[in-house]
Amino acid sequence: MSEQRPIVVSGMRPTGRLHLGHLHGALANWVRLQEENTCFFFSADWHALTTNYHDTAIIKPAEREMFVDFIAAGVDPEKATIFVQSEVKEHAELYLLLGMITPLGWLERSPSYKEMRENITDRDLALYGFLGYPVLMTADIILYKATRVPVGVDQVPHLELSREIARRFNHHYGPVFPEPQPLLTAAPKILGTDGRKMSKSYGNTIDLGESAESTTKKIMGMVTDPARKRRQDPGNPDVCGIFYLHKVTSDAETISWVDVNCRSAGIGCVDCKKKLLEKLLPEQERMRERREALLARPGEVDALVQLGTSKARAVAARSMDEVRAAMKLKLA
Ligand code: SF4
Repeated sequence: MSEQRPIVVSGMRPTGRLHLGHLHGALANWVRLQEENTCFFFSADWHALTTNYHDTAIIKPAEREMFVDFIAAGVDPEKATIFVQSEVKEHAELYLLLGMITPLGWLERSPSYKEMRENITDRDLALYGFLGYPVLMTADIILYKATRVPVGVDQVPHLELSREIARRFNHHYGPVFPEPQPLLTAAPKILGTDGRKMSKSYGNTIDLGESAESTTKKIMGMVTDPARKRRQDPGNPDVCGIFYLHKVTSDAETISWVDVNCRSAGIGCVDCKKKLLEKLLPEQERMRERREALLARPGEVDALVQLGTSKARAVAARSMDEVRAAMKLKLA
């Protein structure tokens, strides 16, 4: 019966602790998706190398923490397959084969290639691996014959590239792969403590399960509506990171209380932040307890990942048999 369900594939790079942006941007969605889809969620450790090739020692420790975060956030290894990309060598084989049919121009036009080359200036990204990363991403997705890939609007062009590569493969060698459809997810906006997008590279994150003391300190010091200078000034919650956190944390009544009273200066930012902490701190505490329980039994987490990796490997091996046959790389 599970074969009938849509197949969803998504991965995350193990480059550091996960934060509230990951929770609300991806993990919460994964937890919902695992109920009605056959899901494969993986550690994209080879992808981490495309930008972190100079600092590889952080990848494996970050990966274990990341799987702990997955499970603590509600990803259930009995419902979804969790695995390590580099432990399923078929990803590399398919990446190589797809590389034979992917025109260079498609990769050079990729928006993320241009954008990251412009934004990341502290290291050389004029590299074959970096240029080819959409091909690896395509292999990751189609290896499991994914029919749906959760993406934000900004990632739709990347998935379109994967669809084009899958189409080209099918055109040359026969229909092996479905073209993965974007599963558009309206990820809530989560801002960091400095008012920019929450991101480890900006140093503005609130990590999953961070202590009450540290979470409180960060929230109380967080940038709000920059135009609201004094308590009596009306504010605009639509530009405030605290309001975005209320939207994913607080109940409807509180959200509307903030919305109305911020605009009328009925409340100050301190009141608003304290109200947020009433819900956020217990959530962080629950997450911290689950994380600590899992971290105390690292062998169990590793075993779950190994089991998931074996399952992924079996699916990947079947796909690659079909690929080799379609490409006439094995005798019938
Ligand atoms: S009252 Fe709340 S939503 Fe309004 S600016 Fe202050 S922190 Fe932000």
